[in-house]
Amino acid sequence: MKITILGSGTMVPSLERNSSGILIQNAGKISLVDCGYGTLHQLLRLKINYQDIDRIYITHNHPDHIYDLIPLLFACRYPLAPREKKLEIVAGPGFKKFFDRLLKTYNGWVTPKTYAVEIIEQDEETREYEGLTVTTKKVNHLPISRGYRIIDEQGKVAAFSGDTDTCDAMIELGKNADLMILECATPDELKIDGHLSPTPAAQLAQKSQCKKLCLTHFYPPCDLTEFRNIVARTYTGELFFAEDGMEFQL
Ligand SMILES: [Zn+2]
Ligand SMILES: [Zn+2]
Repeated sequence: MKITILGSGTMVPSLERNSSGILIQNAGKISLVDCGYGTLHQLLRLKINYQDIDRIYITHNHPDHIYDLIPLLFACRYPLAPREKKLEIVAGPGFKKFFDRLLKTYNGWVTPKTYAVEIIEQDEETREYEGLTVTTKKVNHLPISRGYRIIDEQGKVAAFSGDTDTCDAMIELGKNADLMILECATPDELKIDGHLSPTPAAQLAQKSQCKKLCLTHFYPPCDLTEFRNIVARTYTGELFFAEDGMEFQL
C-alpha cells in the first residue's frame, strides 16, 4: 500500500499546506482519506485523474476534510467525459443524510447522472474493500467522526485519525501500526478541545506503539522544530512531519 499526503494543512488557506487529504494506492485501486479543498489539484500534480478515484474514506464533514467532493461530483458530470464507474464514499453514521442535503442544496447540479454513488455508513466495525480490511472507531472530535485502521493484503497497517483529541479509540486503531497519520493541530499552549498538540499526540502514539508516526494538520503557529523536540521526549518510534507530496510505501 502506497500512501501520499495530499494536504497537511487545515481550514486556513495556505500555498504550502493544502487542506486535509491522503491518497492510498493499493492493488490498482485509488482511494482517498478525506478530500478537503485543493485535493483534486493535488491529484493532478501526481498525474492522477479524478475519474479514477474508486473510494473516499471520510473522517468527518468539516469543510477542510470534504469540500472537494463538490467539484468532484460536478466534474463527474462533464458532458464530454461523464463518469461511468461507481464512486464509493465510506463515512460515519449520519453522512448519508448530510450528503443528500448537499445534493439538494445544489439543486441537481452535482447529482450523479451517469454513474452511481454508494454511501457506506460504517460505525464501529470492520469491512473489506477490494483487498483492504478497514476498521473504524468513533474518535474525539464530532459525533460523526471516525478514525480508520486499514490493513492491506500483505498485513501492512496504516491508521488515520482525521481530527481528534486524545482518545482510547485512536490508540487502538494505531496499535502496532506500520504507520499512524495523526493530527497535531496546535502548539501545546494553544491546544483546542477536539484537537491534539505535541504532548498528547506523543503520549497517544507511544501508547499505540505505532512504528512510524506522521503528524499532520498544522495550523500556522506550529513550529515543527519545537514539535520534534517535544514529541521525541515521549514517542520512541520513527517520527515524520507531514508535507504535501510526502510518500510512504508500506
Ligand atoms: Zn480539520
Ligand atoms: Zn474538524
